[in-house]
Amino acid sequence: MNIYGDCRDKTPPVYFSFDPWYFVHAARWEKQDVTVQGNTADVQSTVNVLNILDELLSAGTDRRIHYMIRKGGSEALLNALVNNYSGHCSHCNYTILLPILYLLAKVGHKDRSIGKKAEEAGAVLLTLNLLKNNIQHAKRAAACLLVIQVFAQSVSTATLIGSNQGQDVIYRLMPRYTTKNLQTVKASINAFAALLCSNTNISSAVSKGFVSGLLQLYEDWHSKDTKHSAIEIRYALLCCLHRITRRALGRHTFVSQGGLRLLYHTTQTCLLNKCLTSLVEPSVQLMRKCLPKTPLPLTSDHSAYSFPLPARQGEAACNVVKASDGGNWDFLEEDEEDDEECQEAATIDYDDDLETDLNKLCLCPDPDRPKEVLHQYSRLCPELSHDFQELDLSSQRSSPSSSSSSNDDTALRDNLACHNGERRWSTEVLSQAEKDPPNQTKSDAAILKAKDFNSHNGLLKTSSVVGSKVIQTRKPSLVPKSGPANDGCNDNKEENNNSYDFPTIDKLIERQGVFIPYHEATMYHAAAVKTKSIPGFDILAFPDFWGHVPKPANEPMTTRKPGVQRQKVIEDIQRFMNTDDIINRVVFDMEDDRSPDMPDSLRFFSRFECGNLRKAIQVRRYEYDLILNADANCSQHTQWFYFEVSKMVPGVPYRFNIINCEKSNSQFNYGMQPVLYSVRDALNGQPCWLRSGTDICYFRNHFCPARGSRRTTFYTLTFTITFKHNEDVCYLAYHYPYTYTALMAHLKLLHRSIDPTKIYFRQQILCATLAGNPCPIVTITGCPASKGCKDIHQLRNRPCIVLTSRVHPGEPNASWVMKGTLEFLCSRDPVATALRETFVFKIVPILNPDGVINGMHRCDVNKEDLNRQWSKPDPLLCPTIYHTKGFLYYLNSIGRTPLVFCDYHGHSRKKNVFLYGCSVKETLWQSSSDVDTAGLKEDPGYRAIAKALDRIAPAFSFNSCNYTVEKSRSSTARVVVWREIGVLRSYTMESTYNGFDQGIYKGLHMGIRELEEMGMKFCHSLLSVTKDTKELYDTSLISYMNLDHNIQDHKSHNIFEDDEPPCAEEIEYSTECPGLHGSDLESDVNKCMSCTGEEEGVAHLDGS
Ligand SMILES: [Zn+2]
Repeated sequence: MNIYGDCRDKTPPVYFSFDPWYFVHAARWEKQDVTVQGNTADVQSTVNVLNILDELLSAGTDRRIHYMIRKGGSEALLNALVNNYSGHCSHCNYTILLPILYLLAKVGHKDRSIGKKAEEAGAVLLTLNLLKNNIQHAKRAAACLLVIQVFAQSVSTATLIGSNQGQDVIYRLMPRYTTKNLQTVKASINAFAALLCSNTNISSAVSKGFVSGLLQLYEDWHSKDTKHSAIEIRYALLCCLHRITRRALGRHTFVSQGGLRLLYHTTQTCLLNKCLTSLVEPSVQLMRKCLPKTPLPLTSDHSAYSFPLPARQGEAACNVVKASDGGNWDFLEEDEEDDEECQEAATIDYDDDLETDLNKLCLCPDPDRPKEVLHQYSRLCPELSHDFQELDLSSQRSSPSSSSSSNDDTALRDNLACHNGERRWSTEVLSQAEKDPPNQTKSDAAILKAKDFNSHNGLLKTSSVVGSKVIQTRKPSLVPKSGPANDGCNDNKEENNNSYDFPTIDKLIERQGVFIPYHEATMYHAAAVKTKSIPGFDILAFPDFWGHVPKPANEPMTTRKPGVQRQKVIEDIQRFMNTDDIINRVVFDMEDDRSPDMPDSLRFFSRFECGNLRKAIQVRRYEYDLILNADANCSQHTQWFYFEVSKMVPGVPYRFNIINCEKSNSQFNYGMQPVLYSVRDALNGQPCWLRSGTDICYFRNHFCPARGSRRTTFYTLTFTITFKHNEDVCYLAYHYPYTYTALMAHLKLLHRSIDPTKIYFRQQILCATLAGNPCPIVTITGCPASKGCKDIHQLRNRPCIVLTSRVHPGEPNASWVMKGTLEFLCSRDPVATALRETFVFKIVPILNPDGVINGMHRCDVNKEDLNRQWSKPDPLLCPTIYHTKGFLYYLNSIGRTPLVFCDYHGHSRKKNVFLYGCSVKETLWQSSSDVDTAGLKEDPGYRAIAKALDRIAPAFSFNSCNYTVEKSRSSTARVVVWREIGVLRSYTMESTYNGFDQGIYKGLHMGIRELEEMGMKFCHSLLSVTKDTKELYDTSLISYMNLDHNIQDHKSHNIFEDDEPPCAEEIEYSTECPGLHGSDLESDVNKCMSCTGEEEGVAHLDGS
């Protein structure tokens, strides 16, 4: 045979020196030949054949076994077994039967259909019968048990064996501690565990009292196996318990029979002895799984924030979505396996999800609205009608822009007026805002004073009191002594007492020593006054108000301490086992303004923009359970967090547990740290968000919803913080916060910074949000060289680039990238100048202002993920999406379809930064569709930006990019803008929350600097998309780049997973019993084969 012949795939593996199939046939296994009556020579030759076959299959890889399986090897062995079974066990020839059983175990173990095949061959009950008749023969019994274990890989076969007393027979073979026949003992326990894959068998095992029997066995082996020579048996018993506790019934019985306490004690011993480490992990996981489900200590699972929604068109009702999901569910504790099914269903099969319908890929659906309504968007192209007459007057810096912004504010007020009826809160803030001219002619400090304690009773209170406390130690004369900060109250006492707060704030602002580009505290404050939140925030978080700078040095991702999860889980188990040090008192409640100030406790707070801590419970002296608020009007989507903490003792490690996380895995398991901001550090001249926390891990916990719902599982994110300073106030967040107010202040500062004779910058209101906040849209382009026709004409023909971000409020990384983009586009950099002269940029920096403001993670106040609404956005319920899409339709209708569209996102499960785009061909290729793509024409330009970024952006990972179109993403911005608006280069750009595993940033955390740089680099890459700028791209960007960088291997990834792919890295909290190193079925079979002492009996254990 030709070794590298063409038929390699179809013929057997070529390195086979001979064909095992030959032996299967050659062995004359017909009944008449090899029964006990057969002649000795035949028997011996058959045994020889079996031995050779066994040797053959044992050597080399599994390929031989799989080949044999494909050729019907399993069936042949099953037939051999059946044919050699004489019908009466005592008449069987075990010289032949035993090798057949061993071989069957080895081959069947690799055969997924072995159960079904065995049932069809009639071998299942036969083997069980063989076992029943050989319980006095250790070696024979072991062979049968190994085969039963293999047959039981199939649930239906396991059930069949169970319903024929298989469990009882095997259970009686599992003895108390002994030193005899350990291989048979182990085989019996493993077979018993295998049968427990079937729910029926689990139920019957529980009802027959086997759980307590297994526990007694485990205790017996644990206490008597003092030389630790039977670790595998103890492990096998743990596997049985693991299997049985997959069902709620099993878990309850395990707990009621004292399983938790027993395992807790045995684990303590195991922890002390190094050679027992392999028993610790399965024990800990078993305990974690069986901890009694504890409802979250909430009155409702529904968000603490609810917002009245306008009626959809055609709907009469206009109701707040009430906690309907709280009442309909009986408290039903689901079984673990059902849980897994749910999770499997959630991870959609990649191949099935690809869109393979060519019509859906290529044809543009009808517009979702009549063409007549598009004209309203002409106002969002002010550059097209602007005559630039002021260019002559360029010496007068006053500007087109200030007038335009007042117009915009008027428009905003008009706009908001129609929403007033639906707003739940007072319009006082707005009217206060209106009294002040929007362009700040007054001194900032004056505005601060005017606002603070009138309309915004207590605005800045947290910050000021914090500040005052810090100042107290430095300038005692300034501030009267005040107790610890007393937030969250609206009483007039504060108003009367305000005399000290103003100077404090003023002084603080005066001495804000660090220059923070594009940030002014007073500007932030002024913008905050106009921001409308559901609860009516009247306090600013200090970091947002004060500002911050990136940390000077890069921060490496943290390395995970081995065993950290085990240690944390054991600590959680101790809550049930040893309650002496358990405090369990609520120290903060978002819904209760009167949260008392507890002695010996940290103080928490989160009633500020983007804040979302709902409840804090002090568990132990230095340990807190934290519960996050669900998205408004919802009862889920917890992931983002942001809160304030104070009253810490410096130098003490505090453990924080966020106990209602929902994702099944997290980058917190892979080097990610939360971020921390210290007010004291800020006042000492180091205003930075720093990656912080040790002992970080993320695992499944024992909590369940307060009122019962489909979800039965939550996850804990745990981390430990050791605070540096006394009398400090710190802020902790999932990622660097970026508020809506920060954007509004930033846009003002940006506008102020530009030269209006060179840069055309126009901020308008796209629409008002449901809660009445303006959603800004910004136009940036270069002013024409002159007001001459030719230059104006050039400007009006510049292609559009449309950028959006922050549709998902819990992704502030997207906002930082956008901030980098905006600042770059307004800069004097020659590349920025070239881009402005080439393109008109239309930017919606926050597509979901209400979600951002109210500390939500995924949705808008309408409970919807706005990035799943693009196909048919509801004008009332999804105004920002409706109008962004409308504007894109408008651009299309006037022949100005954008050249590039990109929506910035944050990614919680992958590292680096990458793009998702759309390509018909790549989708069809990857789906292995039958459609012939040869005749399909597709512009390959969709890859240009990614290729450019691969060269110029160190944070960018080309290999993580993907261009396939999935059915499940058919209503995302990327796909809709591509398909319906016809934008070839339509992207989602994802930036990690965590860090980098490639390039020059490898091993480092993502920081604000890198995010902003990415925003700039994205702009750079735009030079690659038109001929006009290509030259500039080559000369100014590429020429000095290091081209050693490998850009040949441009394959995009097969596995497209948009927002939350399963992590490729190993997870430690799976529900199965963790594997035992160096133990597998094949080695068990080999050990049994080499065992002597066939006639020894098996010790019995009564099931009592
Ligand atoms: Zn997103």
